[in-house]
Order: sequence, then C-alpha cells, then structure tokens
Amino acid sequence: MTASVLSGKEPAAAIRSETAAEAARLASAGTVPRLAVVVATADESSAWYVRSIARAAEQVGIACDIVDLGPEAAGRDIRDTLERLSEDASVHGVILQTPLPPGVNAQDMALAIRFDKDVDGANPLSLGRLAAGLPAFAPATAEAVVRILEHHRVELTGRHVAVVGRSTVVGKPAVHLLLDRNATVTVCHSRTKDLAAVTSAADVVVAAVGRIGLITADHVSPGAVVVDVGTNPTDDGGLVGDVDAASVAEKAAALTPVPGGVGPVTTALLLSHTVRAADAAHRS
Ligand code: NAP
Repeated sequence: MTASVLSGKEPAAAIRSETAAEAARLASAGTVPRLAVVVATADESSAWYVRSIARAAEQVGIACDIVDLGPEAAGRDIRDTLERLSEDASVHGVILQTPLPPGVNAQDMALAIRFDKDVDGANPLSLGRLAAGLPAFAPATAEAVVRILEHHRVELTGRHVAVVGRSTVVGKPAVHLLLDRNATVTVCHSRTKDLAAVTSAADVVVAAVGRIGLITADHVSPGAVVVDVGTNPTDDGGLVGDVDAASVAEKAAALTPVPGGVGPVTTALLLSHTVRAADAAHRS
C-alpha cells in the first residue's frame, strides 16, 4: 500500500479565503482586524516564522504588528506588553512567540493575554476553558490536526486516536478537540511503555513529539491514518517530521506531509481566529 497524502495546502487555502472575505467585511464596517506578535528572542527560525505570519496576515487583510522586545527582555516587560495589548481596543489578537529569554516561563507570561484575544490558545485559562467545553481559542496547531482530518473526510466519531505527545501547545489541546469529535483518545508520552503496541492499536496516530523518525511502520496498523505534527530542522536547512514517512507510507492508508501538512493549516487558523476575535469585538 502507498499512503495517500493528506495535504494541508487545500484546507489552508479554504480557511484563508473565508478569512479574507470576513476581514474585508469587517474593514468595510470600520474594524480592520489587527494581530500583535510579541517577540523576545534573536532566534533566526523564530524570526522567519514571525515574518511569514505577518506576510500571511497582510495577504488576507489583517494588520500585523511585530512587537520586538529583544532577547534581553525581562519577564515583567513581556507581561506588561501583553497586558497593554490586551487592553488596546485596536488590537484583536495577541500572540507570544517562543522561545523566550532564559528563566522566563511562557505559560506565566501568557496569563497576561486576555482570553478573548488569545488567538493561539497560549493562556492556560484557554486550555482550561477548552477542557471544560467553554468557548475558547484552541492552540492553532492542535486545531490544525482536527481540521486537516475533517477536510480530508477522515471519520473521527468512535475511532481510536493515539496522540503521541502531551504538551500544552499541541498534545493536550488536541486530545480535547478529538474528544469533542467523539473519538476515543489515548495519550502517549516519553514514559509510555511499548509505544508501538499502543499506537498500532489506533485507527489514527497523531505524532507531536519533536523526534525525527520516531514513528515507523512498526508503530502503525495497516490502513491507519497518520498526522505528523513534528517540525524538526535538518542540517541542510530543511524540515522533517516525527514520522519515518518512507516506511509508514508503505503501511498506512494516509499521511500528512512535512512540510505542507499541519504547518500551513496552523498559520491559516491563527488568522481565522484573529478575524473571529475582531468580529466579536466589533459586535460588542
Ligand atoms: P514538546 O513540548 O517538547 O513536547 C513533546 C512531547 O513528546 C512531550 O509530551 C514528551 O513526553 C513527548 N515525547 C518525547 N519523547 C518521546 C518518546 N520517545 N516517545 C513518546 N513521547 C515522547 O513539543 P511540542 O511543542 O508539543 O512540539 C512537538 C512537535 O511539534 C515539535 O516537532 C514541534 O516543532 C512541532 N510543532 C509544530 C507546529 C506546526 O505548526 N506544525 C507547531 C508547534 C509545534 P513527556 O511529556 O513525557 O516529556
């Protein structure tokens, strides 16, 4: 069997096009959606990612401010900036880019992002609301997992999904979103015994670990669907996932590519969340 490719490009384009239409409607009604990205690092790959978000935002009619506090920023400065942006009526979405300066905890900082502007679900309160079934923005990457599966009409109700990784950014919120779609979810992590036995029992495997090639053909059952969230830089400047695509493609029914899978849907959802936040602000 050669797995079919569950591309993220088409769902991302569909989300971007809906977002652009909604942004234009809001702008003509007097509210230009605005996203602020707070940066406190000199990390080059982070700078590249932030520039790509700003470009993508502008393409759909969202104004984007990059607020660069520099790699020496103190936690108090970061928190104050997030609070100021949360109170600024012209800003609708606030993202805190990682990594942060040594000793500064991302979750502590994200508590300062007001939950109605927390378009990347970084505030722990947003995760709590998500878990409780209350309205909240989910972290875009976790939501991208579900959206890419839905776009490609992968049934989730009653299916067994194994999520590998339990971070607050991807694994845990993905679990709640999958439960909301009536999947039966197993969560795996670094202490899971016999990972291959657990993931091989699943209909869908979501890999969100950050280890090149962790998920091999031995980890999937014939006909499984595999979502690769991993984005691991290679020595030659490329990007690879957590899934050993060559071996898994011989056994699985479908697999998301890296790059071109979860990544583009993630960016599109950040923009979509920003427009939703702008719409809510416009109505209030
Ligand atoms: P993270 O915070 O480092 O969490 C990694 C998770 O993987 C942890 O829960 C860890 O378990 C688990 N793990 C580590 N080694 C394992 C092993 N051998 N077997 C099973 N589980 C293992 O990473 P993250 O922020 O969730 O990111 C995960 C991946 O997604 C990374 O490659 C990241 O670059 C990528 N990512 C992609 C996007 C995108 O837009 N495409 C966005 C965000 C992240 P413990 O909890 O036990 O330590």
